[in-house]
Amino acid sequence: MFESKLIKAGTQLMKAMDKTTSKHLPYKLAEIIKFHTKGAVASALASAWLPGVGSGAALVACAGFTWGMYLRINKELHISLSSNIVKTLAGGIITNLGAYAVSMVAGAALSGVISFIPIIGSIGASAIMAGLCYAVTIVSGIVYLNLMTALFKAGRNPGNLSASELKDCATEIMDEMNISELLDEAKEAFSAAKEAGEFDDAEEDSFKICEKCGEAVDADKRICPSCGARLK
Ligand SMILES: [Zn+2]
Repeated sequence: MFESKLIKAGTQLMKAMDKTTSKHLPYKLAEIIKFHTKGAVASALASAWLPGVGSGAALVACAGFTWGMYLRINKELHISLSSNIVKTLAGGIITNLGAYAVSMVAGAALSGVISFIPIIGSIGASAIMAGLCYAVTIVSGIVYLNLMTALFKAGRNPGNLSASELKDCATEIMDEMNISELLDEAKEAFSAAKEAGEFDDAEEDSFKICEKCGEAVDADKRICPSCGARLK
């Protein structure tokens, strides 16, 4: 299952960081990735996708959750990267994954057509967008763990690299991974989870990412409890 891939990637990172004594950390990392992926799905399901809206809008939303996810992972592992650098990196990784995903499913074209059919159409469109967000966000978690693993293995401190150096490394890592296969498996995991009712109370699970500090905040909050920023 997909969860075992997250734990495996987390375990490899712990080895690369010499943190093998904390056995719970890979599970904790998997939890963080799943939490943010669920947030992305809830937000995609709650959105009314207008006719003709492509997957681009969905990917912008995924990037926010991915950014928050990376910040949480860094906090957990004491990796110090500025929030702006993490934002740029998350955006780059999502754009890259989006290109894989869209070429695979032609999600943009498909949802544009489906949402013209009233009611059934909009449910269909949001399910497609949610599936896309799920796959892209959860795979972005694995990409990040693999990226950090490669950097620590090579004795490079991510904190010393610029945003563009990190993005280049991420691109290399993705070239070595079988991204299309991962996205496919993620989509299957999404369908299974959806059928099992995991997203039935999506509205209760929905949260957003504070654009100033990356904190996960309840969707109905107007002010970030962590940094006081006004939220959209
Ligand atoms: Zn904040």
